[in-house]
Amino acid sequence: AERNPGQPEFLQAVTEVVDSLWPFIKANPRYAEHGLLDRLVEPERAILFRVSWVDDHGEVRVNRGYRIQHSSAIGPYKGGIRFHPSVNLSILKFLAFEQTFKNALTTLPMGGGKGGSDFDPKGRSPGEVMRFCQAFVTELYRHIGSDTDVPAGDIGVGGREVGYMAGMMKKLSNRADCVFTGKGLSFGGSLIRPEATGYGTVYFAEEMLRHAGRSLENMRVSVSGSGNVAQYAVEKAMALGARVITVSDSSGTVVDPEGFTEEKLAVLMEVKNHLYGRVSDYAERVGVHFEPGRRPWHVPVDVALPCATQNELDGNDALMLVRNGAICVAEGANMPSTADAVRVFEENGVLYAPGKASNAGGVATSGLEMSQNAMRMSWTREEVDARLLEIMRGIHAACIKHGTRDDGRVSYVDGANVAGFVKVADAMLAQGVI
Ligand code: NDP
Repeated sequence: AERNPGQPEFLQAVTEVVDSLWPFIKANPRYAEHGLLDRLVEPERAILFRVSWVDDHGEVRVNRGYRIQHSSAIGPYKGGIRFHPSVNLSILKFLAFEQTFKNALTTLPMGGGKGGSDFDPKGRSPGEVMRFCQAFVTELYRHIGSDTDVPAGDIGVGGREVGYMAGMMKKLSNRADCVFTGKGLSFGGSLIRPEATGYGTVYFAEEMLRHAGRSLENMRVSVSGSGNVAQYAVEKAMALGARVITVSDSSGTVVDPEGFTEEKLAVLMEVKNHLYGRVSDYAERVGVHFEPGRRPWHVPVDVALPCATQNELDGNDALMLVRNGAICVAEGANMPSTADAVRVFEENGVLYAPGKASNAGGVATSGLEMSQNAMRMSWTREEVDARLLEIMRGIHAACIKHGTRDDGRVSYVDGANVAGFVKVADAMLAQGVI
């Protein structure tokens, strides 16, 4: 804590991982040597930079840009770019740390990184967003590359923003190799990448339920958020026969006891992705109930999929879910559950998957985009989706292998942390103290 003052999210993520690794390291003392843990909790490099740009009124604006290159032990740094006013060093360091384990779990050769800016895209014109993205890349470009560091999207950064950044990167480097993933289909993007995180989260929930002799069929599901991850989690959960009864944003929650339909989801996507509107606009359009200022966790469901942001589900929310009979929680967002909430889930036998396991489908499919670009090929939708499903099943199997306790219960937290750690740690040990 003394080394990282004022970084609560980073300390939260590190504490969770180290606590869950401790028994494994005690049983396997070679992982306690060579300063391995001390090195693993320190980013290899953290870059902070100024982003100056001119708004529509001719005013000069200054934002702060970041790229945390956490670990390149198993491959080039890889992880998203976030544009949100809450972005700071602590949040990006926690995300880059988590990303390192997540990327290892995918089995693809990708290290961990994360970046972004405190720029708030809400209320900005399309021209302002483009100029900001371009200004951001005029500094970032010197630190990234297809074999060095390959960013992608995250909160506030979707296909449009990735397109602007990849375009500026190409102009500055005079190269067309793959430096960003999540690109548009017309310039190297992969089919299924927009869907991958949400689909993967639901595939993971289905695997957990199957392992426990259940399935998503006819389950009531709450989803939080209404962005990229949330939308495709809704779509896949519906496709597997579940009834999705909530979505949300930072201003409130839509509660729809009858559940989403394909038609309603199309309206949500139109409102969010084309009109850049709010879930309250969606609720008004389709005539469903909107609860201002509330999160979804008081609504009784069988399965909860938090897909918005970190620490959006606390201990009390978790207790409410448990009391209302929830049996499964799979995180689409990164660290949406507080440490208290995780404890409540694990103590009450809820099938609980941490984001680094359940939301790894996004970065896995980004890895597939890198492969397709390097081969100058594109795979079909079915081919990418089949690989995604296989990767999610592989992560589930790794969690079972490393997270099954003596009483037969599975801790997906321990399973994911140990499985991710072993791969990164073995690579670090083999490469010496660097
Ligand atoms: P989007 O920007 O598309 O959507 C974010 C959603 O979360 C919006 O509904 C937003 O509401 C809500 N949200 C954001 N910040 C807050 C906040 N502080 N309080 C309440 N609600 C908030 O982002 P994504 O869907 O891409 O990302 C969602 C989560 O998934 C993040 O944790 C991200 O790190 C994680 N993730 C994303 C991946 C991807 O492939 N995109 C991959 C793996 C993880 P509002 O509009 O009101 O801000």
